[in-house]
Amino acid sequence: MQASLYANLRRKIIVILAATAILPVLLLSTINYLEFRKTFATESHNPLRAMVSKSKNSLELFMAERSSTISLIASAFSYEDLADARTLQRIFFVMQKEFSGFVDLGLINEQGTLVNYVGPHKELLGIDYSGQEWFHKVRFQNRFVSEVFRGFRLFPHVIIAVQHVTETGDRWIVRATIDTAQFMKSMTVATFESDSDIFLLNRKGILQSDSLFYGKTLEQFPMPVPVQSYETRVINTHDHNNEPILLSYCYLEGSDFVLVAIKQDANPLQSWFMLRTDILLILCISILVIYVVAARTVGTLIARLEASDREREQAMLQMEHSQKLSSIGRLAAGVAHEINNPLAIINEKAGLLCDLLEMEKEFPRREHFDSNLKAISSAVTRCRDITHRMLGFARRMDVKIEELDVNAVLSETLLFLEKEAQHRSVAIIQELADGLPHIACDRGQLQQVFLNVLNNALAAVENGGETRIRSSLHGKDAIAISITDNGTGMDEETKKHIFEPFFTTKKEQGTGLGMSIIYGIVKRHGGEILVESEMGKGTTVTIILPVGHLPAGA
Ligand code: ADP
Ligand code: MG
Repeated sequence: MQASLYANLRRKIIVILAATAILPVLLLSTINYLEFRKTFATESHNPLRAMVSKSKNSLELFMAERSSTISLIASAFSYEDLADARTLQRIFFVMQKEFSGFVDLGLINEQGTLVNYVGPHKELLGIDYSGQEWFHKVRFQNRFVSEVFRGFRLFPHVIIAVQHVTETGDRWIVRATIDTAQFMKSMTVATFESDSDIFLLNRKGILQSDSLFYGKTLEQFPMPVPVQSYETRVINTHDHNNEPILLSYCYLEGSDFVLVAIKQDANPLQSWFMLRTDILLILCISILVIYVVAARTVGTLIARLEASDREREQAMLQMEHSQKLSSIGRLAAGVAHEINNPLAIINEKAGLLCDLLEMEKEFPRREHFDSNLKAISSAVTRCRDITHRMLGFARRMDVKIEELDVNAVLSETLLFLEKEAQHRSVAIIQELADGLPHIACDRGQLQQVFLNVLNNALAAVENGGETRIRSSLHGKDAIAISITDNGTGMDEETKKHIFEPFFTTKKEQGTGLGMSIIYGIVKRHGGEILVESEMGKGTTVTIILPVGHLPAGA
């Protein structure tokens, strides 16, 4: 539960830290991405847009020049002049000299008959145009520019027809044929790179000039005609082969023409994609680095926090425990002290009664009294023993520190227990290491430690069991004494409370002071007690004492 608390805290801090660091990076990358995309678009679109705009201006100028020349001719000369073959020939000669592209020139009267003609198709003279659509258009609008068509001629051409109306209401039409293909070709050659194509379309999608990649004049353009716009537009799209293209176009005013320029669009996009991948890569690496750094730092911090929390908790527990022991010790000492006086009185009075019994020759129930007095005496002795131990627990006994050989003290202690062990045929096996360094300790206290532990071991084993005593060097400057029995063992609850004063599982037989007393002694000597036990198998109590350590307060 505690661990999940720290994990939670860790996760939260990492998320907050990483988010605050990653957010600006993400924002910057997005802005960068959008800006770059815009720049890329304009950069690749601009040259094509400029091409189309320039070509449109040239083309419009080309058509306007020719159209106004014809208009000028129609109004500057009289019908008679224009009907004269030699005059018209001369006019056509000047026109061809001044402007390129004129193929022929003709005069059409009010009825629609071609009355005069200069050009390669003399056979047209006298032909009647009154039934043709363009004738009605020019009558109505005064000016007409045709789409590209072949007509009687062998090459695609455009006709411009202008009607002149005098004040008196006479009217005639001057008509010229212009070769636009020539003009477009010169423009393509002059302006564009090999991968771009510029051409004219009409609104029905019929090519009005030769295209490099999309067909010849008068063929159908393989893509749909772009939506009407008199402004130059650039769009990223795909051609009929699904190749990416950049298409720029513009509708020409006063005619059916659409000027179109197309450029293969692989390169700019490719470099754009590369840049986008770069940005994405940098972004991913930054996010990864930020996350790893945040996770590492926070991980270390939380681990330290957890460790220090745990240490503090441990110290608190330790303090609580020693506080408990010391207050119980003080209480025990007080009780022992108080009880010692009445005990002494009881003992004294019992002794007195004994003496009185001796003096009296004839006492009716002598045996009865005698045995009762003995019982009182032995109970008092037992009480004395307990109070004595209580005082020992409270450190009220005299202490004398000596350099002691642990093995020797163990052997001395065993003398007290030999009788009982023999009687119960409990084997006591000694595995004592030779040449152990001496330890600084009070002999009585050390004996008490060993005696208490051995007593417990003997109490735990059945008759015929065994107790093993081992002494050895523990690390460089400590000695370990372990006492192992194959007795009852302890359950978890007993292990938890084993060092508490007055904790016993032996009811009337036990005082519950043995382990708590030796705990105090061993701690005072800077040592440690370890208890390992398994129910039904046995117990090992290990006492570790430092070499040459002078106990506190000695
Ligand atoms: P007491 O021996 O008077 O009961 P102690 O403080 O010496 O008090 O021991 C406390 C309790 O620890 C004992 O009552 C017993 O339950 C348990 N105990 C101590 N040593 C052993 C052992 N070697 N085997 C089994 N239980 C033990
Ligand atoms: Mg005991």
